[in-house]
Amino acid sequence: MTDRFSHLWPPQNEQIFAALKSVYRNGDWGRYHGEETRILESNLAEYFSCSHVHLVCSGTIGIELALRGMGIQSGDEVILAAYDFPGNFRCIEALGARPVLADISCESWSLCANSFEATLSPSTKAVIVSSLHGGLADIESICEIARQRGVRVIEDICQVPGASVNGRRVGTYGDVAVLSFGGSKLLSAGRGGAVLTRDESIWQRINVFKDRGNDTFALSQLQAAVLNPQLDCLDQYNLVRRQNAMKLIERTASTEGVSGLRHAEGDLAVFYKIAWLVPSSQLRTELLIAAEELDLPLFEGFRGFAKRSERRCLKPVSLANSERAADGTVLLHHPVLLAEDAVLDELSDQLSSLFSQMG
Ligand SMILES: *Cc1c(COP(=O)(O)O)cnc(C)c1O
Repeated sequence: MTDRFSHLWPPQNEQIFAALKSVYRNGDWGRYHGEETRILESNLAEYFSCSHVHLVCSGTIGIELALRGMGIQSGDEVILAAYDFPGNFRCIEALGARPVLADISCESWSLCANSFEATLSPSTKAVIVSSLHGGLADIESICEIARQRGVRVIEDICQVPGASVNGRRVGTYGDVAVLSFGGSKLLSAGRGGAVLTRDESIWQRINVFKDRGNDTFALSQLQAAVLNPQLDCLDQYNLVRRQNAMKLIERTASTEGVSGLRHAEGDLAVFYKIAWLVPSSQLRTELLIAAEELDLPLFEGFRGFAKRSERRCLKPVSLANSERAADGTVLLHHPVLLAEDAVLDELSDQLSSLFSQMG
């Protein structure tokens, strides 16, 4: 997946270079233990106001560990959006639990609180809430409903590190939050992830599962070394990305047939992707072919789970928005959001013209 902006990622700056030189010189790059992971744990704990941080080898295993930490077992029901990262569905299956599909809200590409509520049953043990593509789930309402019903909340914040809802950081609302440090993510070490919690029993259960004489799903010192300086400048980069993303969203807002993200007043979104919805998969295919000719970083969204068989998951409510998202989501990848104004102006002209030519 190369495009004309892919050279902008991963970031190359003096701080990351200095961190790499430092672990080279002191030898921590080749050791099991060192200062870098300890510093990262403590910085993440502070940034996300949590007492416990597990650094792990991917966001996907992070979600699985979060479920294990909650004691999810075979036969338990776990709710997730029918439009979500594919690995989240597999993580539920990995525990022998049942995925139960709820719908998304079409302005946020993320779990809809009402649909979540309608999906609850006496067997529901947990819900996975991902905020996707520059959107933010209504995490306050979802957590309130979950608390009343004794359901635990996993916040999948892989796409939104540093976002906030109503003045409070996303990732501090639920029982557990999960980050990814994969090669395309906003905090990147090529691979990696983290599980964040304030809950002692979740933390302990994960410890027991991870420990097989070694730390089975660990993040390395070398990975932690490049993440520390990125966490330091996350807010600053997020701010630039947000300003540029908002401009692109505004400038493409008036295109007939294409709908974009909407945010509640006071929310601070974070842009790993920017999503638009076009009316059909046929139109999307044509649009993506035209985008490729212009070397624009536009891609399809997730396939979603609405078509999965009833043997694999329960589908108690309408999944219409998730199905539309699976058919018509177009995503812009984030690196270009750190480009200069002139580049962004050209991009926004090209996007507007692509969208308006559609159909
Ligand atoms: C990337 C991602 C993950 C998984 O992270 P990996 O580190 O790639 O395993 C999970 N959920 C969402 C929403 C993601 O974007």
